[in-house]
Amino acid sequence: MIKRVHEHGHIVLEAYMGGDLAIVNNARVSFDQESLELGEAEDGLIGFLMRNKHGSPFEAPVFRFDVKAPLFVFREWQRHRISSFNEVSARYSVIEDEFYVPERDYIRTQVGKPGAYTFERVEDDEEADLITRLISTTSNLSFGTYNRLIEDGVAKEIARLVLPVNMYSRMKWTVNLRSLLNFLALRNSEHAQREIRDYAIEIEKMVTEVVPVTMRHFNDNGRIVP
Ligand SMILES: Cc1cc2nc3c(=O)[nH]c(=O)nc-3n(C[C@H](O)[C@H](O)[C@H](O)COP(=O)(O)OP(=O)(O)OC[C@H]3O[C@@H](n4cnc5c(N)ncnc54)[C@H](O)[C@@H]3O)c2cc1C
Repeated sequence: MIKRVHEHGHIVLEAYMGGDLAIVNNARVSFDQESLELGEAEDGLIGFLMRNKHGSPFEAPVFRFDVKAPLFVFREWQRHRISSFNEVSARYSVIEDEFYVPERDYIRTQVGKPGAYTFERVEDDEEADLITRLISTTSNLSFGTYNRLIEDGVAKEIARLVLPVNMYSRMKWTVNLRSLLNFLALRNSEHAQREIRDYAIEIEKMVTEVVPVTMRHFNDNGRIVP
């Protein structure tokens, strides 16, 4: 199922392997034992593993997502090294004329100092409207120049130099659950930039359907990554 994020973005959970029971059985192999279904004892074991930071069994479930997001969101996302990325190449593909423009409530100011910023909605409608138009006009200009360079036969790898960080890109993201919990702790957080958080919120909903017991213990344990 495709989940739209903002005007042009999306997330699709394309495939996954394993769930709560796989975590239990990766732990139980230590004692040469196996559970066939998820009961109270298995639920308790996942809680124990989570609280005591026995992390490796949480590497059993693996997820693959198809993600379409602006480049500035990918810059943050791709800092998560314990996962795999395959992305559309702007050397080989012509970039579509799409860019992210924040909706009205997302136009914000930055107050405070590093580590203690607050981001506040711009209340003045006229000012917000001007900001939106400036972002759109600059982005349109960049894409106009890009398309002109492509038409003139300039290599895509050179034409792309004029594109802004709010252009869209698409990637396959493959990640195990332990690393995904780290992603969710950091990116579905009030400290994360709102745009990447919107993606993390949707990912968390999808993952909760696959590993509901683990996600309950993760939240009960203060979202500390095992
Ligand atoms: C709110 C916020 C603000 C940020 N601001 C900045 C910023 O200003 N500048 C900036 O550069 N980055 C910034 N980052 C990115 C941040 O520093 C991390 O690079 C990013 O969140 C990925 O986290 P990670 O390293 O835990 O994830 P992953 O790379 O997926 O790593 C997962 C875990 O594996 C282990 N690990 C991975 N690689 C190594 C290694 N080389 N050595 C030892 N252990 C390793 C660590 O335990 C790590 O937590 C920010 C992130 C957030 C959430």
